[in-house]
Amino acid sequence: MAKVLILGEIRQGELRNVSFEAIAAAKQIADGDEVVGLLLGEKAVSLAKQMIYYGADRVLVSEHSDLKSYTSDAYTQVIMQVIEAEKPEGVVFGHTSMGKDLSPRITAKLKSGLVSDAVSLEVNGEEVVFTRPIYSGKAFEKKVIKDGLIFATIRPNNIPSLEKDESRTGDVASVNVDIKDLRTIIKDVVRKTTSGVDLSEAKIIVSGGRGVKSAEGFKVLQELADALGGAVGSSRGACDAGYSDYSLQIGQTGKVVTPDLYIACGISGAIQHIAGMSNSKVIVAINKDPEANIFSIADYGIVGDLFEVVPLLAEEFKSV
Ligand code: FAD
Repeated sequence: MAKVLILGEIRQGELRNVSFEAIAAAKQIADGDEVVGLLLGEKAVSLAKQMIYYGADRVLVSEHSDLKSYTSDAYTQVIMQVIEAEKPEGVVFGHTSMGKDLSPRITAKLKSGLVSDAVSLEVNGEEVVFTRPIYSGKAFEKKVIKDGLIFATIRPNNIPSLEKDESRTGDVASVNVDIKDLRTIIKDVVRKTTSGVDLSEAKIIVSGGRGVKSAEGFKVLQELADALGGAVGSSRGACDAGYSDYSLQIGQTGKVVTPDLYIACGISGAIQHIAGMSNSKVIVAINKDPEANIFSIADYGIVGDLFEVVPLLAEEFKSV
């Protein structure tokens, strides 16, 4: 039994799903002990109840003006203060940009180990066993934590969140924070307009490669993504060619995604691309070259011209 602290993440006024997945992971580690949520930034107070509905026993919040936009500096200070006050035996963050930035800073200060990018966990008596990908997703290793602080980040879309239960109750309390000597102050945040579905949390991704041939060609993929309620992704080949934005790049040097369905269109299946999507639950490949490597990891393959196949799929899904 261990008291576990989890960090919730707010993006554009909403809680990211990975916050609920972190609660589910924390519940397993806590094994009946308390799961404490921490929510920082704008709207933290109004969103805190959601964390209780998904399994947190208590939530600590702060809407301090220095936490309005994320900075490593301010968030690290506050989380350290909360850890010192709460003394959790476990801490779980999402393996997101924020979690990846914060977790090594905090574990270094705590002189603790860190299991990063866990995709599953199990508790065997006093031990917690995490599974995490290595060698760009080609293999998995198990990390066994036997004692000391259990600190982990979990990959989005892998550990299922618990059912939402609006009858659950729990305390929501403000934390007193002492933020000083900030080296970074965010004056303004200018967001790019996106399709609205966050790539790293999307359940369905329609991804395009150099075979899409132009930025205009990506509109065909967007139509299929819209029909499926998914997001559009891209290979680096397509980004380098100027057909899509680097923020959509999936792979070793881009985002790592694990959607329920990944549709690769005009992507050859280079090892660096596969590193970012091979753990998708179902992979569909559309490529006019029957020898393309992407077919070696696909569950379903369509050999054909994407400009014929993708519009047909979009039409079909629009009608259901
Ligand atoms: P290509 O390899 O050119 O493939 C295009 C495919 O489209 C072909 O298979 C072709 O048959 C098919 N095609 C063409 N026309 C059609 C059509 N009309 N209909 C259907 N199919 C069609 N790549 C990534 O994606 N992500 C990364 O993070 C990444 N990181 C890298 C890091 C390093 C250090 C290096 C060296 C490379 C990295 N790469 C990465 C690049 C990677 O090696 C490949 O060059 C890249 O993935 C190729 O992109 P592609 O599949 O879109 O293009």
